[in-house]
Amino acid sequence: MPLQAFQYAESFALRMDEQDPLRRFRECFFIPEQNGKPVIYLCGNSLGLQPKQAANYIQKELDSWARLGVEGHFQGENPWVYYRKRSKHALAALVGSSEEEVVAMNQLSTNLHLLLVSFYRPKPGKYKILTESGAFPSDQYILESQTRFHGYAPHDAIIELTPRDGKHTLETDDILEALDRHSSELALIIMSGVQYYTGQRFDMARIAAAAQRKGIPVGFDLAHAVGNVPLSLHAWGVDFATWCSYKYLNSGPGNVSGVFVHQRHARSFDLPRFAGWWGHEESERFQMKKGFKPMPGADGWLLSNDNVLGLAAHQASLDLFMEAGLDNLTKKREQMTGYLEFILYQLNERKNVIEIITPKDPNSRGAQLSLFVHKEGKALFEKISEAGVVCDWREPNVIRIAPAPLYTSYEDIYKFAVAFEKALHAID
Ligand SMILES: *Cc1c(COP(=O)(O)O)cnc(C)c1O
Repeated sequence: MPLQAFQYAESFALRMDEQDPLRRFRECFFIPEQNGKPVIYLCGNSLGLQPKQAANYIQKELDSWARLGVEGHFQGENPWVYYRKRSKHALAALVGSSEEEVVAMNQLSTNLHLLLVSFYRPKPGKYKILTESGAFPSDQYILESQTRFHGYAPHDAIIELTPRDGKHTLETDDILEALDRHSSELALIIMSGVQYYTGQRFDMARIAAAAQRKGIPVGFDLAHAVGNVPLSLHAWGVDFATWCSYKYLNSGPGNVSGVFVHQRHARSFDLPRFAGWWGHEESERFQMKKGFKPMPGADGWLLSNDNVLGLAAHQASLDLFMEAGLDNLTKKREQMTGYLEFILYQLNERKNVIEIITPKDPNSRGAQLSLFVHKEGKALFEKISEAGVVCDWREPNVIRIAPAPLYTSYEDIYKFAVAFEKALHAID
């Protein structure tokens, strides 16, 4: 919908909801309440809401455990030794890969370390890592500790890309230029897919293509990208990626992470890796023999048997994504974020208190808009929170607003705007 067609009016928002082909999915989630009213939940980038079906999916496995005990591993509707495989179809669709290229396991930070064991192979003179500045803290700690582990000093081995003076986000050309300039000393390029603070979506396709041309492994942390923006990891030639499932993937606090390893590494059995019995060739796993023989594909990085109760909640959400259709979700996300942006510009016109630091181009962002607040940011945030808006505050002065097209309504966006407008008046 063209920008000029949007209106900051309740009737307009309600009409948009009526015409929304995905509107019934809101009913599939529990919306938290504040003072007896549903909150305006714009925090799906931090913790997605609970699918109502999650409890049923978990209960089914609790029932199998109750009825079958250990036999549940091989019996029941979803034998636990294969439970993880249920998620492959949806995960492959979400990240743009084959099923062999993805696996659900562990948690994000753990997986990033495991993948770096295989894909960060520094050598004298070619040991550096190119990444964005201001990455999520866990990612910073992971890279620091990995470089130290290999005997390098983080400040020397990690090259951080910073935006141009006066800018909040990176230019793709600057990323590619740095990649080119440092290529002879780079052992790895790793970035987020969607930056957690600014909401910028990086041009993963171009970055991966450039890295490949130079023969440098490239990986992405997709914590804020998966379930949010369309991904084509296989076609882009990305070497590896990992993500968590509790943000846009609505799988519950701390739930299972996912991993992608490109097909070209599927049978690179000599790639160094930290092994565990669940990554061993499935047909021989229970022979309990000496000698690790990795499974082909991403499964070869598995360590442990599955956390089935966690995977059950994960599956409840993945099934909703498949039912809703990823193209439909992308369309709604773009339109809804555009509507949010349109309203924010209107409200800010006279006051100029906020600056949207997330890129304007829908291809350079996902659902999230990050508002850089020039004065009284914390007070503004507290005012909207009191009015029932759930979003988040990131020091020093950013409010992150993230609709989730599976459950956010246009009415939510309108109500958020009313609360925001009142708060703007109040801090004046
Ligand atoms: C949310 C997030 C994490 C969280 O890591 P966990 O291991 O799941 O606790 C890591 N990196 C990024 C970029 C994130 O957005």
